[in-house]
Amino acid sequence: MNEFDLIEKYFDWGQGIGDDCALVAVNSHQQLATTVDTLIEGVHFPADTIPQDIAYKSLAVNLSDLAAMGATPLYFSLALTLPSVNEQWLKAFSQSLKALAKQYSIRLIGGDTTKGVLSITINATGTLEKNQALLRSGAQVGDSIFVSNTLGDAALAWQQLQNQQSPSTALLKKFNHPEPQIKLGQFLLGIANSCIDISDGLQQDLSHILTRSKVEAIIDLDALPLSAEVSKHIANTSDWCVALAGGDDYELCFTVPEAHISKLKAVQQELGIILTKIGVITSKNLISQCRLTIKDLDKACKPYQHF
Ligand SMILES: [Mg+2]
Repeated sequence: MNEFDLIEKYFDWGQGIGDDCALVAVNSHQQLATTVDTLIEGVHFPADTIPQDIAYKSLAVNLSDLAAMGATPLYFSLALTLPSVNEQWLKAFSQSLKALAKQYSIRLIGGDTTKGVLSITINATGTLEKNQALLRSGAQVGDSIFVSNTLGDAALAWQQLQNQQSPSTALLKKFNHPEPQIKLGQFLLGIANSCIDISDGLQQDLSHILTRSKVEAIIDLDALPLSAEVSKHIANTSDWCVALAGGDDYELCFTVPEAHISKLKAVQQELGIILTKIGVITSKNLISQCRLTIKDLDKACKPYQHF
């Protein structure tokens, strides 16, 4: 049983909507978007990762979920499980967490501390105007599919770390310090029909949009935005899965109707990011599981799943 089957079988009680955040009404014109993520030593980061990087990533992955909804960060709580009290470690962790929280104007309002294998759980909440949130379910036939910046850098860094190689500074930055696309998410309100953050790889995360929107799509391998290092890795190994299924990108994947595509240029200039069209939503599909066609890919990548 994979994680999605597990959630559907035991925890889909018909009250959630299956997006990057849950939406809760505050009053007649405002909603809260709330999300939770756990990072565990040895699963999400290697045992020798410095506390600064662990703190940064723990909060950044939650901010990325807020970004996927177009939400403005408000507050978060922190559940910290530690093997022991190491004040040097705690000081570094706390300073890094505080710096990122300040950068994104999100407040730490509570939490819990326990003893055990190092694990960090953060629940972050943001705000949105009612009915404005970017959802996975809004993709329409004819929409163009875009992704921000480049794909596969963090996955290549992880692969190299596991093979006892030293990733470049650029790759390590993408792995340890992914930049949550909060501003992009906010810009996309009223422009994109659907959106998700790429945490488990483009193939799987785009498939969530397709399933929720009941549509099919085709994407083009040649169009995928890749850094020089990832391009070189793929040229040498034909390992497209690093960009399609490696995970940890924390970029946004979103779909935009023809009428709004011209607005993306201003977004790119203002935020200094790259937005790349990688494919299109081709047709409605109300029943089938196979919704994503990847042009020229010989065999599908095994998606990242916890179970
Ligand atoms: Mg997400």
